[in-house]
Amino acid sequence: MRLHTLGTGGPRPDPERNSSCYVLAAAERKLMLDCGRGAIQGMARAGLPFAEIDTMLISHHHVDHIGEFANYLITSWMAGRRKPLRVYGPPGTRGIVEVLTKQVYDRDIAFRTEGETAFGPFIGAEVVEVEEGLAFEDDGVRVECTRVEHGHGLPFGKKFLARWICLAWRIEAEGRVFSFSGDAVMCEPLLRIAHGADLHLQCCYISAAEMTSGHFQGVGKYTLACSDTAGKIAERAQVKRMVLTHFRQTTPAKIAEMTADIRRDYTGPIEFAKDLDVFDV
Ligand SMILES: [Zn+2]
Repeated sequence: MRLHTLGTGGPRPDPERNSSCYVLAAAERKLMLDCGRGAIQGMARAGLPFAEIDTMLISHHHVDHIGEFANYLITSWMAGRRKPLRVYGPPGTRGIVEVLTKQVYDRDIAFRTEGETAFGPFIGAEVVEVEEGLAFEDDGVRVECTRVEHGHGLPFGKKFLARWICLAWRIEAEGRVFSFSGDAVMCEPLLRIAHGADLHLQCCYISAAEMTSGHFQGVGKYTLACSDTAGKIAERAQVKRMVLTHFRQTTPAKIAEMTADIRRDYTGPIEFAKDLDVFDV
């Protein structure tokens, strides 16, 4: 398998990094994981073929993970996608896609299908809502997901938590295992889904030294793994190699801090992804 990191930043504007988006080439398939800000530009700059991506996995519904979805769906169709995009995401994904294609961008789609007929009929998305277990297995690719904790300890009411489902993913193909934390703090389901992965892609927002305020301590405890826990996750899940992503801000000094934090818990290979990096799994 081969992983392309198109967006390795978080929600904050960052001149060096787009928001969450990755492409995994697995057997004969190409899957996109998340579709945050910069997904289209990342695809274009990486020279990846829009027509060949027929599957998208969505970790959760934060804007830095799905903010470019509608644009991507229309742009990939205009760029040659001729099959529906199969979208696997948490409950609520279907409603989001319906509103985007039938309300927000219905005029755009009507313009291009009724006025500019060269594109042919619009080819949209087929949504499969998933939250636990096997999402699909075909063409030599097996995809599983599990619910992880991303903000679940914050003071939300039951009503919100019932519709706040966040997923981590495990993809097996070519006799290899790739896992993706999505946005999550350390929790048992994350350790299970990443167990023994040849490459685990892990969110790592800030270094331990940056957790100086109550706000940032809360982020590390409830919302996003940071470098104080990323190494513990890798060690406990016994992953063979870890690639870090979803940074708040990185400088060489911060990467050195995060490396030292992670090294206290995990001695396996670690790398800090940048946009447009390529990792063989
Ligand atoms: Zn995020």
